[in-house]
Amino acid sequence: MLRNKFLICCRKDHVKCDKIYLHFGECAHKINEIGEGCCLMPRKSRATATWIRIMYIFILFLVFVIARISSEKIAEGPAEEIIAGDSQRIPAAEGDQKVIGSIGEHDLAVHFIDVGQADSILITMKDAAMLIDAGNNEDSQLVVDYIKGRGITTLDYVIATHPHEDHIGGMDAVINAFEVKSIIMPRVESTTKTFEDVLEAISNKGLKVTPPVPGTKYPLGEAEFTILAPNSEAYEDTNDYSVVIKLQYGATSFLFTGDAGFESEEEMLEKGYDLRADLLKVAHHGSRYSTSMEFLEAVQPKIAVISVGEDNDYGHPAPETIQRLRQAGAKIYRTDESGTIIATSDGKAIRMLNP
Ligand SMILES: [Zn+2]
Repeated sequence: MLRNKFLICCRKDHVKCDKIYLHFGECAHKINEIGEGCCLMPRKSRATATWIRIMYIFILFLVFVIARISSEKIAEGPAEEIIAGDSQRIPAAEGDQKVIGSIGEHDLAVHFIDVGQADSILITMKDAAMLIDAGNNEDSQLVVDYIKGRGITTLDYVIATHPHEDHIGGMDAVINAFEVKSIIMPRVESTTKTFEDVLEAISNKGLKVTPPVPGTKYPLGEAEFTILAPNSEAYEDTNDYSVVIKLQYGATSFLFTGDAGFESEEEMLEKGYDLRADLLKVAHHGSRYSTSMEFLEAVQPKIAVISVGEDNDYGHPAPETIQRLRQAGAKIYRTDESGTIIATSDGKAIRMLNP
């Protein structure tokens, strides 16, 4: 009989013991053989409690497993994920100090350096690095320090998208400060001192300019980029000469459009290029004359990054462009709001770092 029951022992006085009987309600006996003040609880009630505990632990385990599976699903797709979303600015590194986004720290890292109303994008892929544009003349030191601060001494590629100062201003300083393996520039000239300085730096380093040929692919570590524009020999608007590239790493893709306008976008659509990209560097600082709805329908960006200066004279980014990006379902990041923006990829998912 005792095997099917367990004991509850209490104080010797039966009054106290009875209170326990009442409390549990299921106490079958009060027995004297075992000792005064002890009673027997039917074993089934203990068994029921154990089962309830087991079920509770099982449900907790199920919830944990389901949560793990859903978080893995997010990481599997080329989806955007924010690790840290606050808007503190990432300072340029001083001297040889290693800072966030240093070369080799991530598989692929795309740095939209905050150069105000200008463009400068550093891309690192394991031990390889490339630069698209170098900001205004006044950003020369900032851009050079930023690249050096990431532990970079060699740039595998430098792309000067088009010869406007806000894209090639700091380019001569970059060419002078780093070993540059290859420089890609469109076949268009400019009479500005800034442009002359870039040509002089190229010549002093004994570099040969590679013209952009649409469809050409270049390796960057384990990633690869393809030239998509310019597709014509001559344009009315210098912005349309912009070198446009699509970078692919595993399942993740990035489209860099310089200041290309509607005309260049139409040409890329006509050529039938695969424009789809997870992250779009919005053309021309968010100008209303770029980023058409047709273009966005082809790109289908999840993330849009606008390199733009606070309170600039051009009214960039245009409200119409912001509206189109929202309509396309892209999450918008702006350097005027967040400072330098870093996107990383492990080949499966893009993560936005903005610490
Ligand atoms: Zn520009």
